[in-house]
Amino acid sequence: MIEIGLTGGIGSGKSTVADMLVERGAVLIDADRIVRELQEPGAPVFEAMVERWGNAIVADDGSLDRAAVARIVFADEDELKAINDIVHPAVGEAMQSRRDELKETDAIVVFDIPLLVKPDGDPVEDRYSHLQGIIVVDVHAELAVERLVTFRGFDADDARGRIANQASREARCAVADVVIDNSGDLDSLGPQVDAAWEWAQSLA
Ligand code: ADP
Repeated sequence: MIEIGLTGGIGSGKSTVADMLVERGAVLIDADRIVRELQEPGAPVFEAMVERWGNAIVADDGSLDRAAVARIVFADEDELKAINDIVHPAVGEAMQSRRDELKETDAIVVFDIPLLVKPDGDPVEDRYSHLQGIIVVDVHAELAVERLVTFRGFDADDARGRIANQASREARCAVADVVIDNSGDLDSLGPQVDAAWEWAQSLA
């Protein structure tokens, strides 16, 4: 197994690049998808969050009200820390068990980890030490905002707030082995992903 980290700010194009790596043969382990699974009603992270914030974060249909959670945690540093303390260890554990399943294979496993680098710029050591290399998808913040608004229905200020709460571009690029520049159109990603895939294979 070869283990590669893939990271980038929200709206950078990380999921797009992840899909393109899967087309080339990568096995994807997606931290956001794992978070969503752990936040299904009845799942452990959902229960821990409801224990802390109560029914204010539960929608009428019983699912997690993500907008309500965002309003709470992005307005207050202590609440942001609290959600991180609930979510991160659980995600780490779930990722570890998927990793164990692939250990004996020759798969090239790509870990899509949005928060591989913390907002203060430090890499998160335990999510990082097993990786043989890191790919960072990089884009100017305003272009990320524009894409989040146009393609994913975000409110521009909400998108800017989320980006401001994440690591800076410089901090992410500082830990990168390969930087994919996503400031061009989708066609310009192909050759860069080809090069990244070749690099990943060379780690075997
Ligand atoms: P992330 O996973 O980093 O949050 P996404 O891959 O979801 O970002 O990209 C954000 C949005 O921008 C998506 O709708 C995606 O299709 C679009 N997108 C990504 N890269 C480009 C690009 N180079 N040109 C145009 N749209 C793009």
